[in-house]
Amino acid sequence: MRFLILSDLHANWEALSAVLEDAKGEFDKIICCGDLVGYNPDPVSVVVWAAQNCSAVVRGNHDKACADSEELDWFNPVARQSIQWTVSQLSQKQIQYLAGLPQGPVTVDQFQICHGAPLDEDEYLISPADVEPQVDYLDAPLTFFGHTHLQGGFLCHRRSVKQISKVPAEEREQTVMIEPHYSYLINPGSVGQPRDGDPRAAYALYDTSQSYVLLRRVSYPVNETLNKILQAGLPEKLATRLLRGI
Ligand code: ZN
Repeated sequence: MRFLILSDLHANWEALSAVLEDAKGEFDKIICCGDLVGYNPDPVSVVVWAAQNCSAVVRGNHDKACADSEELDWFNPVARQSIQWTVSQLSQKQIQYLAGLPQGPVTVDQFQICHGAPLDEDEYLISPADVEPQVDYLDAPLTFFGHTHLQGGFLCHRRSVKQISKVPAEEREQTVMIEPHYSYLINPGSVGQPRDGDPRAAYALYDTSQSYVLLRRVSYPVNETLNKILQAGLPEKLATRLLRGI
């Protein structure tokens, strides 16, 4: 089975469209590690698309906050404003869809997906030190996660953890070999709001019959998203950060 692995779409329709076009014909099922909405201007299109096209989705903190306003206390003012705007756009049915998304980890085929970390959906796995305490508790040799908006991840062997790097700026893709006797936590990167200094949309492909994961980047018409953010009255900072991928 060939999987397209997405995370942190964040209501960016132009980025999602570019990813789907770029990966066309290379996958059978679509899996999402959460955060369908928040920050960007197309929550309705992205939620409707996800409900129709994704085989498995775990909830992200932004999805959760749309369904439970108490979660908003944990958000910074810009993120909070974008969630309040998002809720004003979504229908009751769409909010119910977000409210019904399961907490990770969720098992798909032979691997797992979660939003932040296998042990805590809201935790940020940024460095090997964040992962080391979790290695003994990994239930699957391969887990896909998101939340940090940083493409790459971690290779774990016994208690030692090494970082897996993102696709280099001048390249389109990078191969991560999946070896037996190791555990992998792989972040496909963010479709809709990359924060690793590369403004291109990020995603991953995983063919279970092949022992590797492909990390990919693709450019999208970011100025269209930027204009929509400004027209919607969302904070300008959300537009400018997309240009730099931060
Ligand atoms: Zn996110």
